[in-house]
Amino acid sequence: MRSAIRTRAELERVLQLTEAECEGLRQVRRSDQRGDDRPDGRTDMVAEARVGMPLLVTPYYLSLIDPEDPTCPIRRQCVPQVAESHCVRGDLVDPLGEVAHEVAPQLVRRYPDRALLLVTSTCAVHCRFCTRSRWVGKKEGYVPLTTLEPAFRWLQAHPEVREVLVSGGDPLVGSTGRLEGLLRAIKRIGTVDVIRIGTRVPVVLPMRVDDALVRMLRCYQPLWVMTHFNHPRELTDLSRAALCRLADAGIPVMNQTVLLRGVNDSDETLAALFRGLVRERVRPYYLLHADAVVGTGHLRTSMETSLALYARLQGRLSGIAVPRLMVDLPGGMGKVAVGPETIVSRKPGRTVFRSVGGENVTVFDPEPLMGIA
Ligand SMILES: *Cc1c(COP(=O)(O)O)cnc(C)c1O
Ligand code: SF4
Repeated sequence: MRSAIRTRAELERVLQLTEAECEGLRQVRRSDQRGDDRPDGRTDMVAEARVGMPLLVTPYYLSLIDPEDPTCPIRRQCVPQVAESHCVRGDLVDPLGEVAHEVAPQLVRRYPDRALLLVTSTCAVHCRFCTRSRWVGKKEGYVPLTTLEPAFRWLQAHPEVREVLVSGGDPLVGSTGRLEGLLRAIKRIGTVDVIRIGTRVPVVLPMRVDDALVRMLRCYQPLWVMTHFNHPRELTDLSRAALCRLADAGIPVMNQTVLLRGVNDSDETLAALFRGLVRERVRPYYLLHADAVVGTGHLRTSMETSLALYARLQGRLSGIAVPRLMVDLPGGMGKVAVGPETIVSRKPGRTVFRSVGGENVTVFDPEPLMGIA
């Protein structure tokens, strides 16, 4: 992490940047001071999210980029582009309405039996499509346990919530001791049966998954690890070794893939990714239609593309290799499987879904607004 690439100069030592990337980097650079609240105490979230997360790439993940290929799928995930400053119809700063669904600081509850705990704003790589770009990369880092006390008390008072999803940011960026303190505090609540950790570390910093970490995680079972591989090229010797260590320790590992334009929006790529994951004993869990995060329109597919790609995977791949295609409905209406049971209507550029709660929710395709590409 200390050797991570954070500046344009460092990046230029390895890559010949395109004009769109240079301009993209100029824009995120202005956000170096991210995390500073305005004098009146309010954070200007729109302005902050629109300048985007600062550049952050591990030397390892950077080494996966093909420097000869400006359209490299690894590059597209981590190098900012000028299009990040553009806004398309449906874009939101907080697409899943997480701020509105907080039941205690850092605790988001949208489903009856599980809740999401956001424990750190730090990641190993700033993924340009991140749903939590409003928060990721800010200075806070690991949230102190004292700040999480109200969340723990809320969970204790709500025993119907049996599962806690530990996410951020990336919970595995930080010391093993720090994470253990957190897991111990969650176990101490007594009413939580299952812990789920969401992490991209096996993809972007796989050497972090060392024996000491895995030995510690084993003590907090049942504990599930959710990884986030988006492209078969991310399955390297090092990342496969990390997955192997987790599986050998008896920790179930599942993967969520975000469907991204120009990264993995081909059935060949997805098939290779899902087969590769199954080979490493990882179950592809969800294929997520990308969330409508402000400044990510250039990385999102239309609903039509998502459906067509998914149809081509059915029957062609083993049942254990095919994840469910999901959309997380805007405004915090929850996740639904994309399919005939949940789609109410489709018109060019927009799809209306029926949420689990029975509301009709519109998902827009990332079409340019006012002629901005
Ligand atoms: C995605 C999510 C979950 C987990 O949903 P699953 O369908 O069980 O994977 C839980 N809480 C929140 C707030 C979420 O966004
Ligand atoms: S690792 Fe996850 S939380 Fe962090 S920037 Fe990437 S997508 Fe966002």
